[in-house]
Amino acid sequence: MPYWKLFLLSLYYHATRPVRWWNRLRAAAAERVPVVILFYHRVAAVADNPWTVSNDMFSRQLAWLRRNFELVPLAEAQWRIRRGANHRPCASITFDDGYADNCTYALPLLVEEQIPFTYFVTLHNVLSGEPFSHDVIWGKPCAPNTLEQIRALASAGVEIGSHGFTHTDLGAIDDQRLLSCELIDSRDELQRLIGRPVRYFAFPFGQPQNITPLAMRIARQAGYHAVCSAYGGLNFPGDDGFHLLRIGVDDDLIGLKNAATGDPRKLRRWRQRLIKQCDDNVQRPGRLTSDSYGAPAVCGGQPTGG
Ligand SMILES: [Zn+2]
Repeated sequence: MPYWKLFLLSLYYHATRPVRWWNRLRAAAAERVPVVILFYHRVAAVADNPWTVSNDMFSRQLAWLRRNFELVPLAEAQWRIRRGANHRPCASITFDDGYADNCTYALPLLVEEQIPFTYFVTLHNVLSGEPFSHDVIWGKPCAPNTLEQIRALASAGVEIGSHGFTHTDLGAIDDQRLLSCELIDSRDELQRLIGRPVRYFAFPFGQPQNITPLAMRIARQAGYHAVCSAYGGLNFPGDDGFHLLRIGVDDDLIGLKNAATGDPRKLRRWRQRLIKQCDDNVQRPGRLTSDSYGAPAVCGGQPTGG
């Protein structure tokens, strides 16, 4: 973000702190404190693309989060939403894609400080070692995590989630067999490889257009505990709790502060967007109507690493 934007955002944040403080007090009294779920992609020494946070900034963000939120596992965040009551600010940290660089600083720090987090990985890249296609397009291919790293994280108690098989746009897929491959087959294979249940799914790209009613239905019927989007928003006690809204974290502190404490401008917009999406999901039939997956082994033929 350009410096002038950061400066204006900082002015706005401080000017609206009394409103945020008042909103938080009211929410606590009503046991309706929103649940914050954050997502990172890559944490590395230098923030050399828009989805990388520098090690130094990550430390600052973590320190601020620890001072202002109870950092909870995704399951606890989901439980507070479904319970319909939450009186303490809490946040849950997630990562998408699975970048090898995360293992040099961010993940060891989180594990060492016993901060829970969920790590969503794209299985094909873990198995093949190929960089993510969006990074290749950007001209900055970065190494994905290895299977050994994912297994080590799982052994350390980290919740491993599925980010699909090939990091493809599920919103562009009509074929139920392909959706089943991305949502179910890759999950089953990941579970087998790490020897632990994979309970959560994060939609690749995570925007409303990347999430269809059919994909949602398959995820729900496949037994996922919840799915995560990536277009922003806070989760409120009493929400359904299956579709978890997440806030992306950039390489600055003020953006995190602004979003996680409930930007008064965005609160209404997020709610309207969620309601609209729910309406769309009800009104928009799936492009395929059969509920029988009948998935062939479309994910097969890849090296599994044992
Ligand atoms: Zn992704």
